[in-house]
Amino acid sequence: MESIQYYSTNLKADKVTFSEALLKGLAPDKGLFMPTEIPTFTDKEIKSFTQKEYYEIAFEIIKKFLVGQINDKELLALVKDAYNFKVPLEKGFDNKYVMRLDQGPTASFKDFAARMMGRLMNYYIKKENRKLLILTATSGDTGSAIANAFYGLDNIKVLVLFPYGEVTDRQRKQMTTLGNNIQTISLKGKFDDCQALVKEAFSDSDLDYLNLSSANSINIGRLIPQIVYYFYSFSRLRKPSQDKPDNVIFSVPSGNFGDMMGGVLAKKMGLPIKKFVISVNENDEFPVFLKTGNYNKIEPSKNCLSSAMNVGHPSNLARLVALYGGVMNEKGEISKEPDMDLMRKEIYSISVTDQATKEMIKEAYEEHNLLLEPHGSVGWKGLMEFCREYNISKDQLCISLETAHPAKFPDEIKEILKFDPKLPASLEGLEDKEEFFDNLDNDYSKFKEYLKYNY
Ligand SMILES: *Cc1c(COP(=O)(O)O)cnc(C)c1O
Repeated sequence: MESIQYYSTNLKADKVTFSEALLKGLAPDKGLFMPTEIPTFTDKEIKSFTQKEYYEIAFEIIKKFLVGQINDKELLALVKDAYNFKVPLEKGFDNKYVMRLDQGPTASFKDFAARMMGRLMNYYIKKENRKLLILTATSGDTGSAIANAFYGLDNIKVLVLFPYGEVTDRQRKQMTTLGNNIQTISLKGKFDDCQALVKEAFSDSDLDYLNLSSANSINIGRLIPQIVYYFYSFSRLRKPSQDKPDNVIFSVPSGNFGDMMGGVLAKKMGLPIKKFVISVNENDEFPVFLKTGNYNKIEPSKNCLSSAMNVGHPSNLARLVALYGGVMNEKGEISKEPDMDLMRKEIYSISVTDQATKEMIKEAYEEHNLLLEPHGSVGWKGLMEFCREYNISKDQLCISLETAHPAKFPDEIKEILKFDPKLPASLEGLEDKEEFFDNLDNDYSKFKEYLKYNY
């Protein structure tokens, strides 16, 4: 089989191989990389997933996108190492389930993408006998997900800059207690200062020898692993007797639309998805776009309870538009209309207010014994509204994604449900671990010296 090429959604850059797209992150024309063809599975292959473990399904899916780019044995070792945690499916009521994507090392669904991307990057870097320094600025969550995902990889080092005093104790400890190839800087400044230093380092040619890279969230290496849990959950919940499977509705709490893009790709690969419910918070640019066909970013984005979804211009929207035959650039300007009718047929989208998010946390817990945090609550609420509006039958299989662990939002849960959620094992015992980090002034020349001295 020939290997799949990757094109840029802005259509002004050359096509590249998977490993080039992975190591570049963003295309030179500022577009996002997408596969030129989407591989498919037969019904029989999809049925065989019922007998496979999560990592084995991940292997089958990722392999299709990396034909000729990695051998089976090596890929199998990487997925087995990346996916060593559970993916629980919890029943709400009728045939409606919550998929908990919160059992990874940072208790966020971002672990699924970041762990695989880290391992793939390490694999290609090592093959070329190179080393890489990942530089990342964080206001809390991204840094810990990246640090944990890359922890222990031998050819990649990670340096995280966080603003002194602006991250919570738990967020800080998730980064500073790792050690090994993970180094952290507490900067006397704000998040924007951290980001400015990182940006300046990237454009400083004196530092070319360091092979700096960003573990960018729009990397194609993060998108492909997010296809897997759609296939996995369906394989566990489908009726086993049927050769030709029934279909399923997924509800995805969304911000930058990376998660939902994994689902849309799963559908194109043959997973019988009847409808996507794309649930967003009060940043409602997408539901408005779907309804009217007019796209207007929300600037600045609104601050909502589901903070990881406070996005006024989803960075992966250009990819969705591309899959429906249109062209959207990085600024959100559409030069070719996507097929809006088809999009409306396959996707339903709804904006959920903070008030409704809180009410749903209470209702889900009291009526169905489901413990949801704000992001998962937005997803579940969207599903409930869709099922009501379209009179969806009780037997219809529906799966709503829970993207973070409730214990990461103790204040909200306590206010609404009056108890403290129990910490997942991955976050336990952090208090007692030793921290390592360096303090630095907000000054580029000092930061540069630091880089030269340490790497
Ligand atoms: C990042 C994030 C989301 C949004 O995912 P996107 O892929 O950006 O749509 C939802 N919930 C949580 C907890 C997240 O961290």
